[in-house]
Amino acid sequence: MLKNNKKEFWFVVGSQHLYGEEALAEVKRDSEAIVNELNEKANLPFPIVFKSLATSAAEIRKIMKEVNYNDEVAGVITWMHTFSPAKMWIAGTKLLQKPLLHLATQFYENIPWKTIDMDYMNLHQSAHGDREYGFINARLNKNNKVVVGHWKDAEVQKEVAEWMQVAYGYCESENIKVARFGDNMRDVAVTEGDKVEAQIQFGWTVDYFAIGDLVKVVNEVSQKDIDAAYEEFKEIYTLDMGNNDPAYYEKQVKEQIKIEIGLRNFLEAGNYTAFTTNFEDLYGLSQLPGLAVQRLNAEGYGFAGEGDWKTAALSRLIKIMTNNCKTGFMEDYTYELSAGSEAILGAHMLEVDPTLAASKPRVVVKPLGIGGKDDPARLIFDGTEGKGVVVSMLDLGTHYRLLINEVEAIKAKEDAPNLPVAKLLWKPQPNFKEAVKAWIYAGGGHHTVATFALTAEQVYDWSRMVNLEAVVIDKDTKIKDIINGTCK
Ligand code: MN
Repeated sequence: MLKNNKKEFWFVVGSQHLYGEEALAEVKRDSEAIVNELNEKANLPFPIVFKSLATSAAEIRKIMKEVNYNDEVAGVITWMHTFSPAKMWIAGTKLLQKPLLHLATQFYENIPWKTIDMDYMNLHQSAHGDREYGFINARLNKNNKVVVGHWKDAEVQKEVAEWMQVAYGYCESENIKVARFGDNMRDVAVTEGDKVEAQIQFGWTVDYFAIGDLVKVVNEVSQKDIDAAYEEFKEIYTLDMGNNDPAYYEKQVKEQIKIEIGLRNFLEAGNYTAFTTNFEDLYGLSQLPGLAVQRLNAEGYGFAGEGDWKTAALSRLIKIMTNNCKTGFMEDYTYELSAGSEAILGAHMLEVDPTLAASKPRVVVKPLGIGGKDDPARLIFDGTEGKGVVVSMLDLGTHYRLLINEVEAIKAKEDAPNLPVAKLLWKPQPNFKEAVKAWIYAGGGHHTVATFALTAEQVYDWSRMVNLEAVVIDKDTKIKDIINGTCK
């Protein structure tokens, strides 16, 4: 599987010298206690490192510079133990180029009514400090996250953990490199986009290659490697020969294995972590990559079909955030419109991501209606169930927009024995009609990334980190707001 880089988050505590050295010593002890407990008990995906008390503009500026230049630091968590005058945060905060979380918490959960005096109030005035500090982040348009509540509270810890996943993805986004084999599908509009702007805004490198460049590498794959992989398949998958002649079945599956190994070799050589193909541009390949793509998805590679590099990069990004859990390329295909059972059936020609599988995948060889190539091998399975989101990114000419729809994947009531692809069935929030209307009014594409390992809020948090316009379609969505708001 594609490896994740090591990261940590820095904890920076705002204070000042007004209340004396003893007060600062207590602030430091309290800060260390919080960091130790969060690291030990909060089930965070990355460690937090207590850096320092921030009591002057020079100190804060120095810390933020170090954050920017230290590749292992994925973001900053700030806490206002006391009142920390925010003019001293301006220079450092302006420099900060990584995600910022303002943890609006206080050391003690309860007000000690019997003993509270002004010394206690001065030392524990987070309510005061939060507002002064929050003002400057708002004024500087930092788009930072604010988490509110006591630091021992499980919900607060979960919010911090979820933000960390997103911040990690934000930092790793600049390492995403997409290889495009072929251009975008002819005549298709929504998969297009400004690649230079995508690199400026999201950090994605998007490179074109002729399919012949890939074919050359595929043709260099050794028969020994192909045969070894086929033996492994017998362990991992159900080899479903259907009505195929066994020798023909094996030949077709091995051809996909050859494409898979060639693709992996090509991507590894150029440090590419996502890719696109186009069934209109396969000269020299005997099959459309199906199983090959799905196997690479399972290793964490991002992908989208028909040259859709935006969705390919987005799928890689969300795989980074979710550690490649239940996340992949999806396409809105067919409606179920019967009253009370309305749902959307998603699939693709072949390349449905096996991290979305709820059943053991079957390897199937069947004809493909388009592309004019040999019968391709593909993995077929039923999709996962449960709450998730589908995400689509579109280029409106003036700017990018992100659509985020909360969905619930459900089990189909019946089998579909003649459907030769993996599938996912879901009900969108707030309900089928409003969700589909909102999606269409907002210009959402048919290609999405479906994830069952992130919340809509997490995807929205990422959009704020990269200054990306976002339309969230959830249980509270009203069509009028969509039309009169972002999409007017
Ligand atoms: Mn498609």
